[in-house]
Amino acid sequence: LTTPTLLFTDTCMYEHDPGPHHPERPDRLRRILTDLRERTIPGTVTRKAPWATYQQLLRAHPTGYVEALSRFRGRRAQLDPDTAMSPGSYDAALAAAGAALHAVAEVMSGRARNAFALIRPPGHHAESHRAMGFCLFNNAVVAIEHARQALGVERVLHIDWDVHHGNGTQHAFYDRPDVCVVDLHRYPFYPGTGALHEVGHGPGEGFNVNIPLPAGLGDPDYALALRELIYPIAESFQPQLVTVSAGFDAHAQDHLADMEVSEDGFAELCGLARAVAETFAGGRLVLLLEGGYHLRALTQSVRDCVEVLTGSTPPESRGPSPRGLEAFREAAAMARRYWRHIG
Ligand SMILES: [Zn+2]
Repeated sequence: LTTPTLLFTDTCMYEHDPGPHHPERPDRLRRILTDLRERTIPGTVTRKAPWATYQQLLRAHPTGYVEALSRFRGRRAQLDPDTAMSPGSYDAALAAAGAALHAVAEVMSGRARNAFALIRPPGHHAESHRAMGFCLFNNAVVAIEHARQALGVERVLHIDWDVHHGNGTQHAFYDRPDVCVVDLHRYPFYPGTGALHEVGHGPGEGFNVNIPLPAGLGDPDYALALRELIYPIAESFQPQLVTVSAGFDAHAQDHLADMEVSEDGFAELCGLARAVAETFAGGRLVLLLEGGYHLRALTQSVRDCVEVLTGSTPPESRGPSPRGLEAFREAAAMARRYWRHIG
């Protein structure tokens, strides 16, 4: 019996309802889970994780912030123009952070081959002290801090391929050399951060790598960055764990941003992340769901990534676009100052 790909989720996350016509709606997760239940992927096991505890959240957020959100349990609240809580949101946020954290724990223990936390609300825009951009707790930061502080992991490589820049994750690790954050995103675009020159600070200088992209890029452009930039960074960094903020809003059918990635493209990215993890981190790879708002595109992209996690051969795209090549060359020129393996 081979070690399974674990899928962590909890249907209590359906109870997070930011309001009518909000793109980050309960049907996102409902569709994904219905699809995975109706056509089970061999090699996967679906689990409900314990919710994140107060102590686990406090590694990523100050007490005052956790307490402030907890006071909205059972109530509605508008936290910023895009970010709202319904009566079930606080528990959903605990479940999302818990699923992310336990996905990491099971992968580190060797009980999972790799894992995908199928969660909402998403997390990568959440700052330590502030909800933002549909996000309440920063699930990635909670999970990575658990790896660092509770599991003894010394170096984590975090990849963020959501179409938006993961400002909260960048800021959490900005002055630290133990977590290398590499973020591909449309730029300039929401949330405004993610410029090439944001490289980290102090001992963290060079460990924050932004890959700003113009609109309209597709599968081979994204794959190029994973293959030619993130892989050589991992070769120098030697991570013990690879985590991914896996958003699917760069999909061609997703209307939140004008990117042209296909479900095959996401499967290819997942395959490249798997290759990085297998080559440098003993295969330890955890995907965390972030954005992705076109239901069919999201469901199929998640499914294709899960199949790659279980060992399917990912597709291979060819021929990056001129604009993709230009964006890659600029990011590579900046990263080469800090990472010697970049060609
Ligand atoms: Zn996004």
